[in-house]
Amino acid sequence: RELNLTGRDYGQVLADAVWAVFQEDYRLGFGADGDHLKALDDIKMALDYGYTMITLDCSEHIKNFSSEQNAELEETYRSLAEEERVKLEKQFIGKTFNLKTGLRLTFTPEALKRNAAIYQQAINFAIMVFNQFIKPLQGKVDFEVSIDETATPTDPLSHFFVAEQLIEAGVKINSMAPRFCGEFQKGINYIGDLKQFEAEYVEHTKIAEHFGYKLSIHSGSDKFAVFPVIGRESKGH
Ligand SMILES: [Zn+2]
Repeated sequence: RELNLTGRDYGQVLADAVWAVFQEDYRLGFGADGDHLKALDDIKMALDYGYTMITLDCSEHIKNFSSEQNAELEETYRSLAEEERVKLEKQFIGKTFNLKTGLRLTFTPEALKRNAAIYQQAINFAIMVFNQFIKPLQGKVDFEVSIDETATPTDPLSHFFVAEQLIEAGVKINSMAPRFCGEFQKGINYIGDLKQFEAEYVEHTKIAEHFGYKLSIHSGSDKFAVFPVIGRESKGH
């Protein structure tokens, strides 16, 4: 988005940054993130230029349903392959997931259906991108999965639903960006309910810790109201 606005490309940005590092005689490590990439061509281009991180934007594969759109939700769930639905129902319904970080999660049949209708295509997209582009690089590139550009916040159960399947499929995730409750607009403070943010942030942290990746908070700069909570609960991550 910003590259389109400023008329620059991946190569120029990286070349400018590398030149600045050289000019200032900076000797420590640095990296470059292909941020919020959605298209396979862009991912390939960023990796070819030597970017060390890919933030995969799954938003185009995440569905949105209003509370009246039950028929549409049902139809989307039914449109998944039968084999996949059977597998999901077996994997999630009627089970209690006791996370070693102290969170208990359960899926009702309705919760499974809703999460699968909203997220399953995004999950399958992330698995495909990982296997095709990231896995062959054998750990040399960090992989962030972002599900934050959606119409509604990611509840902790949905975060777990996405992560559980990615990890099961062998995807190595370095960080995950859910959409937190409240508003994270660029350049201004947090807008929203701080108590609710804290309660949900703690649950998201427990899920991230359980799987062993970091939580990523997009558009976090200038969100002074939530920094104390994040500083305390993220335990340095
Ligand atoms: Zn984002």
